[in-house]
Amino acid sequence: MIKQKKLDELNYRMARCSKCVLRSGCKNVVPGEGSATAEIMFIGEGPGAKEDELGRPFVGAAGKFLDEMLGIINLKREDVYIANVVKCRPPQNRDPLPDEAASCWPWLLEQIRIIQPKLIVTLGRHSMERFLPNQKISQIHGKAMRRNIPELGPRVFYALYHPAAALYNGSMREVLIKDFKRIPKVIEKIKEEN
Ligand code: URA
Repeated sequence: MIKQKKLDELNYRMARCSKCVLRSGCKNVVPGEGSATAEIMFIGEGPGAKEDELGRPFVGAAGKFLDEMLGIINLKREDVYIANVVKCRPPQNRDPLPDEAASCWPWLLEQIRIIQPKLIVTLGRHSMERFLPNQKISQIHGKAMRRNIPELGPRVFYALYHPAAALYNGSMREVLIKDFKRIPKVIEKIKEEN
């Protein structure tokens, strides 16, 4: 079965998920969007108000910034895949609780298994912690790291600051853009090694 069909089926199942309380408080499930054959998968934290309204990831101010950074490296959002740790908006944009992130984890794993991205870019601390626990984002941002995830096998991760956090923080914004610009080199290196 082609990857897009598998993702469509997965999205259909996700839209009917009620494994945690978040679904009852949100308008739309935000499964993710982009190319089913993407080399790069971006994983944020969870939908905000605009994302909840439209059922699409990263469509607010942070999303506009993400689009801008993709443009800097000559990519469009259709070229990559964009998803979140939790697919339903937490109330008042609070952090997802550990049991909510755990309930949503199998969906994220299935997305990664279908897409098989060469590089997983985590956006922000919460996304990083799912894959790279006990790390400090201030220490590992912008460094490609190969990690064995029991449910996925060996994968390459690249942790970045969250665009929403960096948006109005001049120095973090500079660091994020600098890290982002290195993504093509990171991909090139992964291809050389494979
Ligand atoms: N922040 C996130 O982490 N994800 C979104 O989809 C939007 C904002």
